[in-house]
Amino acid sequence: MLDGDVSLLPNVSTRAAAMLRSAFGIRTVRDLLEHYPHQDKYRDVGAQVPLAAAVLGGQVTLVGTIGRWQVARPRGRKMTIARALLMVEGGGSVEAPFFNQDWRARATPAGTRVAMSGTLERFRTTLQLKNAKLVELADDETPDDSDRIVPTYPATEGLPSTRIAGFVAAALERLPPLPEHLPADLRARHDLLDLDTALRTLHRPPSLDAVRPARDRLVYDELFSLQIGLQQRRLRLEAEAVGLDNGPRGGGAVDGDGRLANRFVAALPFDPTAAQYRAFDEIGGDLARTKPMHRLLQGDVGSGKTLVAAWVMLCALDRGRQAVLMAPTEVLAEQHLRTLTRLLAPLGVNAPAGPRLELLTGSTTLARRRGLLAELAVGDVDLVVGTHALIEERVLFADLGVVVVDEQHRFGVEHRTRLRDKRSDGRAPDVLVMTATPIPRSLALTVYGDLDVTVLDELPPGRQEVITQVIPAGSPRRAKLYDFIRERVAAGERAFVVTPLVESSEALEEVAAAEDVYRRLDDDVFPDLPVGLVHGRLAGAERDLVMERFRSGEVAVLVATTVIEVGVDVPQATVMVIEDADRFGISQLHQMRGRVGRGASRGWCVLFSAAEEGEPNPRLEAVAQTADGFLLAERDLALRGEGSLFDTRQSGLPDLKLAKLARDGRVVAQTRNDAAALVREDPDLDEHPLLAHEVRRRYGEQRLAALETG
Ligand code: ADP
Ligand code: MG
Repeated sequence: MLDGDVSLLPNVSTRAAAMLRSAFGIRTVRDLLEHYPHQDKYRDVGAQVPLAAAVLGGQVTLVGTIGRWQVARPRGRKMTIARALLMVEGGGSVEAPFFNQDWRARATPAGTRVAMSGTLERFRTTLQLKNAKLVELADDETPDDSDRIVPTYPATEGLPSTRIAGFVAAALERLPPLPEHLPADLRARHDLLDLDTALRTLHRPPSLDAVRPARDRLVYDELFSLQIGLQQRRLRLEAEAVGLDNGPRGGGAVDGDGRLANRFVAALPFDPTAAQYRAFDEIGGDLARTKPMHRLLQGDVGSGKTLVAAWVMLCALDRGRQAVLMAPTEVLAEQHLRTLTRLLAPLGVNAPAGPRLELLTGSTTLARRRGLLAELAVGDVDLVVGTHALIEERVLFADLGVVVVDEQHRFGVEHRTRLRDKRSDGRAPDVLVMTATPIPRSLALTVYGDLDVTVLDELPPGRQEVITQVIPAGSPRRAKLYDFIRERVAAGERAFVVTPLVESSEALEEVAAAEDVYRRLDDDVFPDLPVGLVHGRLAGAERDLVMERFRSGEVAVLVATTVIEVGVDVPQATVMVIEDADRFGISQLHQMRGRVGRGASRGWCVLFSAAEEGEPNPRLEAVAQTADGFLLAERDLALRGEGSLFDTRQSGLPDLKLAKLARDGRVVAQTRNDAAALVREDPDLDEHPLLAHEVRRRYGEQRLAALETG
């Protein structure tokens, strides 16, 4: 029954079935029952009464036949008013106005028998039913009291909510009681309704208060099944991957006192933050275990992830192994090389007897590459920084211990499997994935369900918050801003001007926009200052040259497309101007803002907005209000839903039908713990066959594979 086609229901015509499929992807009865009502739109329509007994101002339900429709279009206003005249059974008539719903006149034409619910009022001499709800009735049908609470379903032209409600009712009537698949102890612990009751209640609640517990049960269900799937997968991966034997080893780079990582920390010009120390602890714990590490390091821009990366790489060297740092672009790989060279200088990196650090990217010449590959294979090179090419290519390491993946790289199971090919013994190196896109914890636990998570929730001391302002695009304050930039440049600082991202298919236009701004700034606004331009269409070498000039100060104002979004670190840059900021999402804006104020001087960020004065863009306002990336991520999640942080398809985030991560974060954490505990005890769910079936049905192997990210 559940998995039967919806067209098997007596009131679902072939045409309706086709519409359900095309509009909502509903094919089976189960799909229909998982087409849940909007959670905040249940209405109590009141009891059915004869008109004579109805009380003015109260909620009533009246049954009758529609006498006629009148559709009016008030002049000068963009709206329609469709008025139905209801001839109430038992005598009398009322008028019901519907705003901008003239389709109703066609959906339930004159002569249709209906139940109408709403607030009864008197307007001059006529009785009116305000905010009316309309349900079509068969000739012999009466609305019974159990229909008082009316759900609103996501609907579509030609398939109004009321019809969908009718389909659902027909399905529920025929459906035998659903078996329970949740373990009884969990249901008792969290006080959850049984599945059958919850599902029926959500669709046809006996009272408004009944909705909440029904929803709670089904949300728990959805998230719990997902977490079970993720935890099972995690166990399987761990069982497959043989980690490294972590005893002390002899290797080229291990020097006398053997503890490069400790010496590194001691030689830093500043103290690591408490959060960084916590990261050392957690990662150190992973490294000491034989099971391969798979950990996500989340930290807001500027929280000091690179230092943690350097530390974990040195831990590999301390065990006589090699380490890799992978960056998403060549610009970033080169920057990491510079940073690591500087950070590791006290350890004698690239000095004759010290550890060797090299760069390997797409631009590395063929001859150089050959040499490097040979040196990596015999272990002469200890640390290598590069792009994804590093694992794509046929690079074999003598003894690869740690892989650090920087910046929102998609790093899935197949990558992890490929890493094992980088070692001749097929063991899995430890992996640390770093991301600067703060992900609310609830989302991290879902998307990265099989990763351990460390959060750097603290910025190094003394960092001043970037001052952010939203300015209307046409405002005369633009001229003042340019004066301000001139001042900052005179003080030895630099400015970014970012031009909007056009659809990626229109990369050429994006470049054109950047070139326009560049020409205007270079010729008209700052004829006295060196202005540079960088965009994705520049060849790698050319782009590096411009970036280098900006770093050195030869270029003071840099016009850029979003190529500067991630990771670029120029401490003297203090002003970030974002043109057409409305085009960017919250996390992108936050990332770009993170490019300034990284040094000792305060940073400034200006967001030009085309939004009307009275209707500010909530995303820009949020960015201006707080510099806390995690708060912003929560805000983004609330404003735009899950899809905002990841392209849902790209991230493989399952389409949760009922759970809302922004709202159900607590349940995410709860289900993760419950699922982990259950899977630890009963990995294959032998004791819970119904649950096993449910998990497989919802999140089959393929969908879980797609979920593997990080
Ligand atoms: P992100 O997390 O954005 O990659 P970085 O690793 O680039 O941050 O660090 C940002 C800046 O902060 C760098 O210039 C780095 O040297 C500095 N930094 C990192 N940790 C500390 C610390 N504990 N105290 C002071 N400065 C730090
Ligand atoms: Mg970084």
